[in-house]
Amino acid sequence: MVLGNYKNCVSARAADPAILSASQDGGIVTQLFAFALEEGIIDGAIVAGQGDEPYKPEPVVATTVAELMEARGTRYTICPNVSMIKEATRSYGLDKVGIVGTPCQIQAVRKAQLYPMGMRAVPDKIALAIGIFCMENFPYQGLETMVEDLCNVKMESAVKMDIGKGKFSVYTERGAVSQIPLKLTHKFEQGGCHVCLDYVANLADVSTGSVGSPDGWSTVFTRTKAGESIWGKAIEAGYFETKPIEDVKPGLDLVTKLATDKITKNQKTLDERASFGVGKGLRNPYI
Ligand SMILES: Cc1cc2nc3c(=O)[nH]c(=O)nc-3n(C[C@H](O)[C@H](O)[C@H](O)COP(=O)(O)OP(=O)(O)OC[C@H]3O[C@@H](n4cnc5c(N)ncnc54)[C@H](O)[C@@H]3O)c2cc1C
Ligand code: SF4
Repeated sequence: MVLGNYKNCVSARAADPAILSASQDGGIVTQLFAFALEEGIIDGAIVAGQGDEPYKPEPVVATTVAELMEARGTRYTICPNVSMIKEATRSYGLDKVGIVGTPCQIQAVRKAQLYPMGMRAVPDKIALAIGIFCMENFPYQGLETMVEDLCNVKMESAVKMDIGKGKFSVYTERGAVSQIPLKLTHKFEQGGCHVCLDYVANLADVSTGSVGSPDGWSTVFTRTKAGESIWGKAIEAGYFETKPIEDVKPGLDLVTKLATDKITKNQKTLDERASFGVGKGLRNPYI
């Protein structure tokens, strides 16, 4: 169950080369939102737009494909997308909201739907929640230190960052690649990530990430009826190329291994919190 409930899993990439040109992996998030927008399945999507500083994202409500394109790529730092859901339904007047987020953000969306504390307009307006796999995240200051001090790259020169195969890599506009072993990044991780028990966004309609699929492709889980229906329509309309996950390497074995590693390690942290003090423990949000 470390991969959550799902109906189907494939390896896929966007059919549109313009989307692929600057997407993080197979461009699944941008292509699926673009399809849903064009078909009227959503009337806008909350994505991580460009903030004031390089590589510092800021949640935006994208109502055009051009705005979705601006938000492509992974920013390895916190972007509070959920903070915009209420606004999306009010100031932006959306009735069918799309939202992308890390597993914890998709949990927040589902919690807001089931227990809408101060979220009156929200529960029935979430039309498509896309989750992205996530092992850990970094505060902006930590990311800046990793990029500028450890990788020796100026934040404004970076055009892509990537975590994979045990390394954190930064790519620059002029074609240089700077890499550090992932173990050097551990101390910069956001503390709250160490009690997180979800790797593949178990509560999303559709979840996607790079792990399991070859470079330029994504691993995609369809999980809910809505997710399955939207994905099916997008495939029928020719928006994605797909391969059975069983036919690609490393496939689901690696996704399962990483999900198990994350959950086991973080469950241990949670257990340790119970007896952190002398005769006193720290709070456990799951009980
Ligand atoms: C902090 C973090 C950790 C990750 N860890 C893993 C991992 O361990 N294994 C793995 O396989 N994949 C991981 N991913 C997911 C992966 O990097 C890609 O985001 C995912 O595969 C989608 O790629 P794409 O080409 O389909 O998306 P694109 O079409 O490029 O779109 C990416 C979308 O993600 C949004 N986004 C970017 N940064 C953030 C952010 N910080 N918070 C919320 N939304 C954001 C963008 O707005 C955009 O809409 C991680 C992503 C993040 C943000
Ligand atoms: S590790 Fe968990 S808590 Fe941290 S950003 Fe990823 S999903 Fe959220």
